[in-house]
Amino acid sequence: MPGRILIIDPIATNRILLKVRLGASNYRVLQASSLKEGLSLTHSTAPDLIVIDDTLIAPDITALTALNEAHPCPVVVLTPGEEPNARARLLAAGAADCLQKPVNDALLLARLRSLMRFETTRRETGLRDDTSRALGLAEDGVGFAPQSQVAVIAATPSLAKDWSQQLRGETSAQITVLSIDAALELTDADTAPDLFLMAVAEEATSLHLQAITELRSRAATRSAAIIAITPEEAPVTAAMALDLGADDIAVCPFNPAEVGLRITTQLRHKHRADQLRATVQHGLQAAVTDPLTGLFNRRYALAHLKQIAQRAADEGTPYAVMILDIDRFKLVNDSHGHAAGDCVLRALSTCLCDNLRSIDMVARLGGEEFVIALPGTGEAEARIVAERLRKLISDMPVVIDAKTTLTISVSIGLTIAPAETPEICDPTDLLKQADSALYGAKGNGRNQVIMNPNAA
Ligand code: GH3
Ligand code: MG
Ligand code: MG
Repeated sequence: MPGRILIIDPIATNRILLKVRLGASNYRVLQASSLKEGLSLTHSTAPDLIVIDDTLIAPDITALTALNEAHPCPVVVLTPGEEPNARARLLAAGAADCLQKPVNDALLLARLRSLMRFETTRRETGLRDDTSRALGLAEDGVGFAPQSQVAVIAATPSLAKDWSQQLRGETSAQITVLSIDAALELTDADTAPDLFLMAVAEEATSLHLQAITELRSRAATRSAAIIAITPEEAPVTAAMALDLGADDIAVCPFNPAEVGLRITTQLRHKHRADQLRATVQHGLQAAVTDPLTGLFNRRYALAHLKQIAQRAADEGTPYAVMILDIDRFKLVNDSHGHAAGDCVLRALSTCLCDNLRSIDMVARLGGEEFVIALPGTGEAEARIVAERLRKLISDMPVVIDAKTTLTISVSIGLTIAPAETPEICDPTDLLKQADSALYGAKGNGRNQVIMNPNAA
């Protein structure tokens, strides 16, 4: 899902040119010609990302705060000149990044892809975190946080040392100098650095860029943040670094204030992700997962639906809820045995997970009944998703053993909590609506999707 981008620029030609470039990559583009209009569109449409021209920020930098407060999403500022201190000032004021005009196409698109990727994860983990809190499973961060470790990797050890010295006053993290080889030999995630500051030279492109991919793919360094330091006037190298897995880019000449800010932001993201992972790894997930399928259970589903409802009300977006029930499942057990029935339940669960977005929720309500929630999804889209799932499942061969392959079908009851609902929809009501639609689908001959007539 490419996402929605709001362009705020007073000059119509700039907006149109940018819109064409972004539209070619399937982004949906909204436009505003003033800050006021931009803020109002941010409120009403909750874009995934904002691109704003520096001329609207320069007179009053608090405009960035206003945008961030209107709706939390990354804001990219297009700046006229290569002025490192101005960049640092914008980052400190809340910009996700600054790109110098005229912006290279490859770099712009790579930057947007990486920010969108991050934004999706942030929203998804935020939503899951809220639910864990609601279930009493998450603990608020305790005061003690271990000191962060930053490793600097540059073309020469002396350059790396020089950078690490310049960074001393800019971050509280402990900074060390590392060679690429040493970084790739790390085997223990607990002692690996939290962040790699990796110089990517144009002429040594392959070696350094490859190292980014390697760090991303190894267990010990997979969850570390990576900031690539790229040469001046090398937008293609920067774009490649982002696409290969760097979280952020800083362009030479090395500006310690700017890089320090970028380090602080990336470390914050990294620690938050670590905390979330730890909560899950604590074994607490046993309380909220179904052992047969590994899906979330009813307890989690109800709590998570409440979070989705709250989020939808805050953002003024719709969401869809469906209940899916296997048709004539008792026959599977009766004809092929309970183990075959279990096998079908697992295959169906995998199919559902593989065919939904990571932000969607799939849970097993009990028996052969599943609930699916699609945040930010209105009626038309939800109908398409439900129908697609129904068809996928009826076409899916379920291999039980060498001799037996079964096919199954499902009935789906669908309901929508529309965007314009004045108060928060009670998830239990939505489940009832979806259930009665499901009942209709069963009565109507099964293997079909029925929309609750009262919804939308
Ligand atoms: P319908 O099309 O009306 O939904 O018919 P159905 O046979 O699917 O519905 P019914 O409610 O009559 O039967 C559901 C069956 O699901 C009965 C139960 O034995 C089986 N079932 C429930 N949980 C499990 C499970 O964990 N494993 C297996 N193998 N079967 C299960
Ligand atoms: Mg059934
Ligand atoms: Mg049933």
